[in-house]
Amino acid sequence: MTYKNFPMVPRVVFGRGSFNQLEEIIASKRRNSVAPFIFFVDDVFKGNAWLTSRIPLTYDDRIIYISADEEPKTSQVDELVEEIILSSKERPSGIIGIGGGTMMDLAKAVAIMLTNDGDTSQYQGWDLVKNPSVYHVGIPTISGTGAEVSRTTVLTGPDRKLGINSDYTTFDQVILDPELTKDVPKDQWFYTGMDCFIHCVESLNGTYLNAFSQSYGEKAYDLCLEVFMNGDLNLKESQDKLMMASWHGGMSIAYSQVGVAHAMSYGLSYLLGVKHGIGNCIVFDHLSEFYPNGVKTFKAMKKKHGIELPTGICAQLSDEDFDIMIDVALSLEPLWENALGKDWKKSINPQKLKELYQKM
Ligand code: NAD
Ligand code: ZN
Repeated sequence: MTYKNFPMVPRVVFGRGSFNQLEEIIASKRRNSVAPFIFFVDDVFKGNAWLTSRIPLTYDDRIIYISADEEPKTSQVDELVEEIILSSKERPSGIIGIGGGTMMDLAKAVAIMLTNDGDTSQYQGWDLVKNPSVYHVGIPTISGTGAEVSRTTVLTGPDRKLGINSDYTTFDQVILDPELTKDVPKDQWFYTGMDCFIHCVESLNGTYLNAFSQSYGEKAYDLCLEVFMNGDLNLKESQDKLMMASWHGGMSIAYSQVGVAHAMSYGLSYLLGVKHGIGNCIVFDHLSEFYPNGVKTFKAMKKKHGIELPTGICAQLSDEDFDIMIDVALSLEPLWENALGKDWKKSINPQKLKELYQKM
């Protein structure tokens, strides 16, 4: 048995208003006046001076506004890298992602591809990255994915949705400023927050569980209960807690694995472009046979916040469509093994998954 030697984010700052320290934090990382910092900012913040006026631009630094309407693609990373190389006199001093999982994953992937040759899709998988990435900073503006702490960047490529999992993926610096999440719309707050809740349920109920994962997973699970059973999105205290739940949830799966909801949600995302947070919710709602307590609590939280999930999204699909989703889901073997143990193939087969998808 070899144990994972897992990289952690080496520097993190937490606190309401800590975003104001960005300038001071990155200053020492500037190589010279022609090696810029590039800021990837969710275009939801375009024209929002409260946030953008605090982005410290000097010399050739610039902001690239990016839409989070679709999940990141390997081709999008290739295009961003090309654009940055063409428009910068030197390789950037750093890439700073400001937004949700989408901006953070793009920042991680571009930071890697600025120092590694070829196409981004070549690096989807485990430990394929050869050269250290450029300095990169993650600044979440919505809580739940754990992308701020993970060693992966999840990308849809030409033939699969798969992360670039590597020691060079992890951020060099994270700024956790819960105040940045104050304007998240309620539905999205729930979907992305539930990503964290589901990480905890899948980790805590998985066969890969160990004391490391459990200690983080239990804390994150409890924080989610405080936020979604007793709190609300407008409470400062809830914003603070959910940001730390996301962090701990990410740490929990770092040393275990996710499970059935994530495997099936990847299928929905690959075929239908359903986004991660809402996709997980749609799937998880139907998984009481795998996670009875977790799903019961999920339904209670959904009710408390008046969240209505889409239904019938698989109603019009052909047999070929189902096969595509099922292939994607079943290819994620470690997730099934974590969820159900080494003999998972005895209880899970394509027909079983089709029946579940047909309910969604
Ligand atoms: P997101 O980045 O897709 O954003 C969701 C929506 O919220 C967008 O419309 C965005 O504009 C909006 N938004 C974000 N912050 C806001 C704010 N402060 N105010 C108003 N609106 C705001 O959301 P997400 O759920 O954080 O990320 C999902 C992505 O993360 C997926 O692509 C998924 O694959 C990825 N992911 C990555 C990891 C990882 O470890 N790398 C883990 C889980 C998920
Ligand atoms: Zn997730």
